Amino acid sequence: TPVIGVLALQGDVREHLVALAAADAVARQVRRPEELAEVDALVMPGGESTTISKLAVLFGLMDPLRERVAAGMPVYGTCAGMIMLADKILDGRDDQETVGGIDMTVRRNAFGRQNESFETSIPFEGLEGGPVNGVFIRAPWVEAVGAGVQVLAELPAADGPDSRIVAVRQGNLLATSFHPELTGDHRVHEYFVRMVSGS
Ligand code: GLN
Repeated sequence: TPVIGVLALQGDVREHLVALAAADAVARQVRRPEELAEVDALVMPGGESTTISKLAVLFGLMDPLRERVAAGMPVYGTCAGMIMLADKILDGRDDQETVGGIDMTVRRNAFGRQNESFETSIPFEGLEGGPVNGVFIRAPWVEAVGAGVQVLAELPAADGPDSRIVAVRQGNLLATSFHPELTGDHRVHEYFVRMVSGS
């Protein structure tokens, strides 16, 4: 059984611990570098990415996080966690750092201008059992991806023919704009646990 940490600096940590346990992982909070060293994989929760970023620097976690990502540790980021996994962000705070790892540009609060918060059904590549219920809370979208990034879910844009990328995977890194941990549907967490188990 994989041991999966949840970065517990700020955000919806408890909901991820519950969802991971339901997906048959052993879930633990990670706040210190020593705790990070003990997990096989990590979830970065939703919350406020500027705060999570600042606390990660303060707690001495930013470099260890980058090192583990570079060494191939699987990471799943939701919403603010997606922002943390982005190599490049738009509308971030000036000095906002990310862990990075996914070759993508993410726009913070992108859906927030039209809708602070909404729910919608989204087909998700690689998941059986039909679309997932996407809960979006001042959510980012992915504005551009590099060639190595697989797009797993997209939403039609509200204002034109484009679509907005809301779930991606690059190697061992997974990110969603929305919050599966706030629904009773644990399929995205199960997908991540399968990534961690290598099956
Ligand atoms: N708007 C938040 C940010 O920039 C993300 C919101 C969320 O995680 N639900 O970090």
